[in-house]
Amino acid sequence: MKYAVFTEDGYDYIDSSYKVFSGGKEHTYLFDYASKDISALPDLLDAFVNKNLGKKTFDLKGYKYAKEDGAQIEEILLGLHPYYVENVQEVIKRALGEMFISRLEIAGKTRENKTWFINRFTGIASLYLNCGDEYPLQLHEEYRHKFRADHPNDWEVLYFRSCSRAFNSELYEHELINRLLYWVLDTSAPYLSNLTIAQRMWLFGNIYPGYSYDFNIEANFTPAQYYHLDREYCDDKDEETNPMYEHANKMHDIFIPIHPYLELYESGGDLTPEAEAALNKAILHAQSVRDKPIYEKHEIKKIGHLLIPEVLQMIRNETKIKKCTRCNRYFVYSNKNSKFCERVWEDGNRCKDVGSSESFQDKLKSDPVLRCYRNVARRFRRWSNSGKIDPAQYENWYAIANKELELVRSGKLSFKEFKDWLDKYKFE
Ligand SMILES: [Zn+2]
Repeated sequence: MKYAVFTEDGYDYIDSSYKVFSGGKEHTYLFDYASKDISALPDLLDAFVNKNLGKKTFDLKGYKYAKEDGAQIEEILLGLHPYYVENVQEVIKRALGEMFISRLEIAGKTRENKTWFINRFTGIASLYLNCGDEYPLQLHEEYRHKFRADHPNDWEVLYFRSCSRAFNSELYEHELINRLLYWVLDTSAPYLSNLTIAQRMWLFGNIYPGYSYDFNIEANFTPAQYYHLDREYCDDKDEETNPMYEHANKMHDIFIPIHPYLELYESGGDLTPEAEAALNKAILHAQSVRDKPIYEKHEIKKIGHLLIPEVLQMIRNETKIKKCTRCNRYFVYSNKNSKFCERVWEDGNRCKDVGSSESFQDKLKSDPVLRCYRNVARRFRRWSNSGKIDPAQYENWYAIANKELELVRSGKLSFKEFKDWLDKYKFE
């Protein structure tokens, strides 16, 4: 089972019992994910399927798929988020299943038999199926279930049509995450700066009511509470058996005995020995859990199960984000004047370092006063370093020059006067 453990600092993504990766307070994986363009996925998958399946005839062409056929799709997914490192095969397999069914629906082939169905699906998905894979059978069941009767309601037809994009789930979640970040958290989003986070969330929920399936926006949002997920609470990471029931039983045993005495206790009355014992038991338990943070465990069946709680957590924390002026990806900031992120790129440079020196270079180009001053200052610093002038003299000049520069900035000295001063300055 794949699941994520959410803590105050972020989450750990766990496959069986191995931690695969962690998402931290910087949310770098999330922001990288949001910045990527995945719009090519449907066409790539379409071309992939067409290699072996006649678009109208549904005849197999006898094409033998090789690893390279899926390389571009895999590259996009693997570059998107570490989640896909473990799940790329599964995600593509399911996207092929969705696409196959939607093609059958469009062609009106809603009554094909099992052998026909599995034969063709295996023909297009062989590269991503394991030996003895149950998925083709499951998919056929889904197909049968979906077309068991002609859709009695128009909305059902509409619903299925809207799902007919290939990689529907990948595109849907990518769009949702980007919208959530923008509408609710991005402090540079225009028109929204006077709203509180809660107001922005409300606004977002009303603009996109369709997302209410993923979380209930109008209620006070505690992510897991509104998830269509199996959710488990536990206070011990190593619990082998079903932790939800065990935990519920444990809590029941601890807290139910206190109930009859609550009113007495709250009104400050004297407790009976039984009441005292029950209360002490609960207090003892509370002390034992103090050092173990309570964490939430969510089963992860698709990427949205991982990223939506992450964004909701950010919303609850009122995390401030904006886009980096240099790489155009989101980053978390605390100083509202920050323009660049702290991302370290492959060349070892950080946007923050490169970006501010780049913008200084830009400023130099457009500011003749600063350029002129800098040229002279450089020359004097060289002289000071090589001993041609006394370093103390240079320091002295530097202080005066900065004052002169301020005079120019405030309009009390003209550029020409400043330039003349710079040219004529002599060291004694
Ligand atoms: Zn950046």
